[in-house]
Amino acid sequence: MAIGLQDLKDKVVIVTGSGRGIGKGIAEAFAEVGSKVVISDIDAETAANTAKEIAGKGVETLSAVCDVSNREQVDKLINATVEKFGKIDVVVNNAGITMDGLFIRMKQDQWQKVIDINLTGTFNVTHAAVNVMRKVKSGCIINISSVNALGAPGQANYSATKAGVIGFTKALAKEIAGMGIRVNAIAPGFIETPMTAKIPEKMAEEMIKAIPIGHIGQPLDIAKPILFLASDMASYVTGEVINVNGGLNGV
Ligand code: NAP
Repeated sequence: MAIGLQDLKDKVVIVTGSGRGIGKGIAEAFAEVGSKVVISDIDAETAANTAKEIAGKGVETLSAVCDVSNREQVDKLINATVEKFGKIDVVVNNAGITMDGLFIRMKQDQWQKVIDINLTGTFNVTHAAVNVMRKVKSGCIINISSVNALGAPGQANYSATKAGVIGFTKALAKEIAGMGIRVNAIAPGFIETPMTAKIPEKMAEEMIKAIPIGHIGQPLDIAKPILFLASDMASYVTGEVINVNGGLNGV
């Protein structure tokens, strides 16, 4: 009986949008337990810098530029990973954006871009990775949703994608469990990253006051349950959404 995260050593893990923010924290945590990490981001420079930092922990890394909404670039990411490491054990679909605005003023491209990256991006990477995983009947997909899947004013586009990610997770988990692939999601609350740094200070203070645990979360708070989901500790967990939000109402 193996209790712990030791099985994550030498696992090959792709984290999208991992140049900075939560994705970077997730990549660092996998490196901490000895996984081989693919740092993939739309921004070449942050991807390369993060990969370099993480390689300093003594693990193998690959830095890859990939816009998850572009299927050609996604296929290149998957091929480059298999070429370098020979397999893909875990994919964390973390890349995501916000383009907030009141619905009555929301432009078509403000809607479409968020759908393309947050939802279609999750489809693209998962679709390409599952094709590799199913051949060895093993794999793990972890999708990043949000507490705002419940619906947040000014985020009709974002909330739609994050609720969509939950439906996608649950449907796919049922469909591919027989292929030895588990699919789960994490719904973070308010986490300190460049994305949330855009929130006006007064509003951020109000948001923090509403968190029962009493403070904003850090990327590592999200990374820890992701390690659990990726490991054998969660071998009987699929189609699940874990709320990681300091006690806010969950999805
Ligand atoms: P972040 O600080 O903005 O980091 C997101 C990363 O994804 C950035 O490096 C960004 O690159 C990259 N990215 C953007 N578009 C991309 C694309 N098309 N393809 C690949 N990479 C792309 O955001 P975060 O706060 O870490 O959020 C990470 C995930 O957690 C997102 O899915 C977000 O919706 C979710 N989430 C965050 C919070 C929170 O409170 N922070 C709460 C709930 C859920 P650039 O720097 O070039 O833009």
